[in-house]
This record gives sequence, C-alpha cells and structure tokens, in this order.
Amino acid sequence: MTCVPPGGWPQPQSLYVHVPFCRHRCGYCNFSVIAGRDELQDQYLDAIERELTGISPSDTHRNELPLQTIFLGGGTPTRLSAARLQRLHRAIADAFPIADDAEITAEANPEDITPECLDALQAIGVNRISLGIQSFDADKLQCLERGHDQDTAFAAIEAAHQQVGNVSIDLIFGAPDESLATWQNDLSLAASSSISHVSTYALTFEKGTSFWSRRSRGDLSEADETLELQMYEAAQQQFSTDGWQQYEISSFARESFRCRHNLAYWAGRGWHAVGPGAARFVDGRREVNHRSTTTYLKRMLASGSATDETETITLEQYARELAAFGVRQLDGIDLSTIHDRTSIDLETSLAETLTKLQSMALVTHDNHHLQLTRRGILFADTVATALLSEPE
Ligand code: SF4
Repeated sequence: MTCVPPGGWPQPQSLYVHVPFCRHRCGYCNFSVIAGRDELQDQYLDAIERELTGISPSDTHRNELPLQTIFLGGGTPTRLSAARLQRLHRAIADAFPIADDAEITAEANPEDITPECLDALQAIGVNRISLGIQSFDADKLQCLERGHDQDTAFAAIEAAHQQVGNVSIDLIFGAPDESLATWQNDLSLAASSSISHVSTYALTFEKGTSFWSRRSRGDLSEADETLELQMYEAAQQQFSTDGWQQYEISSFARESFRCRHNLAYWAGRGWHAVGPGAARFVDGRREVNHRSTTTYLKRMLASGSATDETETITLEQYARELAAFGVRQLDGIDLSTIHDRTSIDLETSLAETLTKLQSMALVTHDNHHLQLTRRGILFADTVATALLSEPE
C-alpha cells in the first residue's frame, strides 16, 4: 500500500523556533523551559544555527517555497537581547527564503515589553506579538506566579499595538479559587484593549509541575467541570460581538486577524520546528527534539541532531488527523477534500463513529461537510479522540 498522498506530502512553509529561556518557571508550566540559565543563550544560538543549516532546502529548491509563517515561541523569546534576536533572524534567513508578506510572530511576557524590546522585534520583521497575559486580576496572577500586574499588561498591549499593530493575548481560566465573575472581568478587560486575537485555555495540572504536587497535597484545588464550561461559554459570549469571531475551539479573532501559523498546523500542511522540545511534521514524519535544553544543546552541538522521537504516519492516520484538527475549526471540514488529498475515504472508514457523534448531537455531517454543533464545541476533545481512535 502506498504511504504517500496522491499529490505528495505538503512541503512546509512554516517554521517554529522554540526559545526555552524564562526568568522563572511558573508553577503550572509544563513546557520545555529552562529558568535562570541565560548564560546558555550563545550556545543555544550555535545549536539553532546548526539545526537550521541542516534543514535548509537545497539551492535548487531554495526559492520555490518561501516561509509564509514564522513563530518564535517559548519559553520567552524576548529573554534574548536585540543582538541575539538579530543572530537568530540571520540564521533563519540564511536557511530559508522568507515571503515578503510572511506572518512573523514572537511570544513575549508583558514585563519584557520595553521600547527597546519592540524595536528589536520590529528590526527582525516581527509583525505579530503574542503576549502571555493570562489574567488582569492581581490574585489570579499571583496564584499563577506571573511577573506582571494589570497596569503592566495594559501598557504592554498598548505599546505593542502602537508599534506592531497585530497583538494576540493568551488568557487562562479555571485557576484555583477563580470565580466566574473574575473570569468575566478578565474577558471584558481584554475586549476593551487593543488586541486583535485571543486564545483562551483552561488551566491543566500537568505531572512534573509544582501545581501538580500542590494539588496532590491538597494545597490547590481544581475548578469543577461545570464552572469550566460556564467560563468557556462566557468567553464565547464575550467574543461573539463587535467584529470578533471564534474560529477555533480556543481562538477568537477580529476580521482578518486569524493566526496564519496555526491555520497551517490545523490544515496539516507540514511545518519545520527547531529548538528544545520542538515538534515538526515533514514528509509524513513527525519528529520531536529532546525537551531538556541542556541535552538538546549537547546532542545538537555534538552530532547535529537532537531528535528524540520519530514516527512515520500512515495515510489513514494523516486523514484522521486532518479531520480531528479540521473539525476544531468552527467552519468545519470537508471530508471529500480529505479524500482528494489522501485517497482515504473517512466517510466509509469512520461511518460508525460519525453516526454515533451525530446521535450524540456533537457534530453535523451533511454533504461531506463535518462541523461541530454548539454542544460539540464544548466537547471538542471527545470528538477529536473519536475521530483519531482506531476502529474496534
Ligand atoms: S513564562 Fe510562559 S513558558 Fe515561561 S515558565 Fe511561565 S508559563 Fe512557562
């Protein structure tokens, strides 16, 4: 059986760069992060240069597929100085052509947004800033161990908006002891600011974090499911008016401000990714780098590879993933397009699953189009899991 889609694997035009440095590890954070080790930044850039050189397209293909999106994520990319951000950008531009209208996003913490920082980001072409606001509420911010307050958050949003224009923020709901009123206040403060995109996430307690241990000891309590649902619906309500639109389970945007980088992920177009813990999807292969920064540096600098996990996916898996990620977008997904792209007929192989999801009123399936219902939006993970599960 062939393992390549009829038109070949999509060639990535997106790049994710993981910058692991943080001032402090927040108690709930399970990302690949290294706190208080900024002296490793030059070594990190040596490693990133080596990794990017290794995945640079050959001279013959160099100009065929310029990067359309670049995402500098973390960690905290703005822990890098202006000179180091320049070095990072040179390494990317040496490895790949970059489209003139590429979306270039940098994540940043509000307390790092100074005029110098914004100048440095703008100098390397950043045209979208994603701020880790998480909340505007003093008690919640303290609980989440964040380093900013409400004034700093607003000042950062406004300064980034003035200089770069396109500002996204992340907000967390369901923090320990958080009330619905606190969350509603966060939402209305966010909506009153000059952001054009917001991603909302329920707090999760991940193994290995201090929140996990504190919950096990009974020091922290988890929001109950009913409250989380009410909070999720409050975000939908807040961002369904005034030119806002929910376009994905966790993402809301003003007209024409959808995140192009995430859209490329969800459309299964393939992406490059470099840095500790970075996960890529290239030529039907998923690869993940070692998530420890020090191990990543050692391996990359010694052998030119820090890949820790590799998985070649089958066409059936690819088709199911396209459906599972596609359906998380509120416009839904056309299953006949997936058939054309992969030669897999999900409407046959998933017939029972689709019937069951419909009977549970979680999706509509009409004329090849699969879409979450209003109820399905609240249970999107259940739908995605069902679409990805192997038939019994
Ligand atoms: S700033 Fe962000 S990436 Fe860094 S530890 Fe906190 S949550 Fe994690």
